[in-house]
Amino acid sequence: MILDGKAVAETVKADVTARVAALKERGISVGLATVLVGADPASHVYVRSKRRTAEATGINSYHHELPADTPQVEIEALIEQLNADPAVDGILVQLPLPKGLDSDRITELMDPSKDADGLHPFNLGLLVLGRDGLTPCTPTGVMRILEHYGIDVSGKNVVIVGRSFLVGRPQALLMTQRGADATATIAHSRTRDLAAVCRAADIIVAAVGVPKLIGADHVSPGAVVIDVGINRTDDGLVGDVDFEAVKDLASAITPVPGGVGPMTVAMLMHNTVSAAEKRAGV
Ligand code: NAD
Repeated sequence: MILDGKAVAETVKADVTARVAALKERGISVGLATVLVGADPASHVYVRSKRRTAEATGINSYHHELPADTPQVEIEALIEQLNADPAVDGILVQLPLPKGLDSDRITELMDPSKDADGLHPFNLGLLVLGRDGLTPCTPTGVMRILEHYGIDVSGKNVVIVGRSFLVGRPQALLMTQRGADATATIAHSRTRDLAAVCRAADIIVAAVGVPKLIGADHVSPGAVVIDVGINRTDDGLVGDVDFEAVKDLASAITPVPGGVGPMTVAMLMHNTVSAAEKRAGV
């Protein structure tokens, strides 16, 4: 089975659209501010897609584009301005920021209640504690795909390859939360015999950034394979999973593109409207 992230993202966007419209009926508009620093082509593509999706769901999009040599203090001043702006419910600072900028400090300056990406230490802390907060878009999107297709993770062995704060670590926290109840292993660049670790998995989530790292050797027959990787190669966009080698072994697999990517954008809108509802006391 191919897990169609694009289709699942449409269901999330439809839900967001309805919630934005319900707020509008009460005189409340929802706003997402995007901050893009520098000329990284991939970042431009991502932000364009986020702005377009915001507008399609009825969320007002406020875009701030700054040159790569913008001083740190100027970006910090912008974040403070967005924190104070009542029209802004969600703030997205597209990462990675150009070299020389302190992205940790910029993220920490953000009002956690407007942290649409769910990457503020306060929100990550709430996730560790198992309390409600804004959760990181990509791993939350992965949970939503599994839920949509009725793939229960409870009691399953989930191997997550990659330990980034953006995907791998929060993915493990979401998988092991009460209610999800998976048993999670985080594998990384120092893991011994990655293939053997992965073969023990009922579900593999690959978030590595190495094209086609996960091959037939890594996948037990019937496993579910979620490919978070987005790698730009001469052959176009390629995931972290060797799709052709794995697709007949796996019981379900996400394609690249059209898998996890669209979910990340949809969950950003979900977080933004959730933040707006919370501020409105809905
Ligand atoms: P990262 O570079 O921060 O982390 C990569 C992780 O992979 C590290 O923890 C490292 O230990 C591990 N790793 C590296 N080489 C390895 C190896 N040979 N074996 C096992 N583990 C290894 O990357 P990230 O930000 O987590 O992103 C990972 C991938 O996911 C990238 O391709 C990125 O483009 C993609 N991504 C996609 C989305 C989406 O919306 N689909 C969102 C975020 C990131």
